[in-house]
Amino acid sequence: MKFHIVTIFPDFFRGPFEHGVVQKARDAGLLEIHVHDLRTWTYDRHRTVDDRPFGGGEGMLLKAGPLFEAVEAILPERSEGSKVVLLSAQGKKFDQAKAREFAGLHELLLICGRYEGVDERVAEHLADEELSIGDYVLSGGELAAAVVVDAVARLREGVLGNETSAVDESFGEEGLLDWPQYTRPAEFRGWKVPDVLIGGNHEEIRKWRGKAAREKTARQRPDLLAALSLESSGK
Ligand code: SAM
Repeated sequence: MKFHIVTIFPDFFRGPFEHGVVQKARDAGLLEIHVHDLRTWTYDRHRTVDDRPFGGGEGMLLKAGPLFEAVEAILPERSEGSKVVLLSAQGKKFDQAKAREFAGLHELLLICGRYEGVDERVAEHLADEELSIGDYVLSGGELAAAVVVDAVARLREGVLGNETSAVDESFGEEGLLDWPQYTRPAEFRGWKVPDVLIGGNHEEIRKWRGKAAREKTARQRPDLLAALSLESSGK
């Protein structure tokens, strides 16, 4: 799968993709990540990518022109297997279901906004989707792009060593959070690992994990359980 990131700070991405499973997958040729400097598509001496908003107000906006040219040059033919996403605090919320959907694409192009944001015509006429990584405002789309690439990349076949690890995780098929996990020592500062986990009875462990996952979801994210019960009641 190919990822493209359009940004005014290409150096920002030195690091996030050079560790762990993402780096390994790139080395193995399973993933390509191309970072494009938006200023490539400017023609003035100052390589201008921003301008003041019509109607007045604070700050600057990324101009439509360089962004349209960038996307048209990087993806000259848009197909069903490719998507263009504008990272934006005003977007729909990125989640694991969206990550799974994107993991089925061949190419994903992510546009990183900066300053006060991006000329709205990019959301209206260039991007297939406008996505937010959460209800807070970042200074730029770069961190959001790194989040999306990481979440999608690890769902591609072969990227995680163990094919089941992406299944037995939070937001998996069951829609629950992951169950609590412990490693050695079995007792740390007086806190003991639940006996069942060291008893060796796999059926008991399976049952405990299911129950513990539900309990943790109810404690931390009751909204997920509420959504599941709505789904099962067909509403
Ligand atoms: N004026 C915009 C607003 O109030 O919605 C905020 C602009 S923000 C300072 C600059 C850029 O950061 C945005 O264009 C977007 O690309 C990125 N950004 C900020 N928050 C984000 C979020 N929660 N998810 C994804 N991208 C975000």
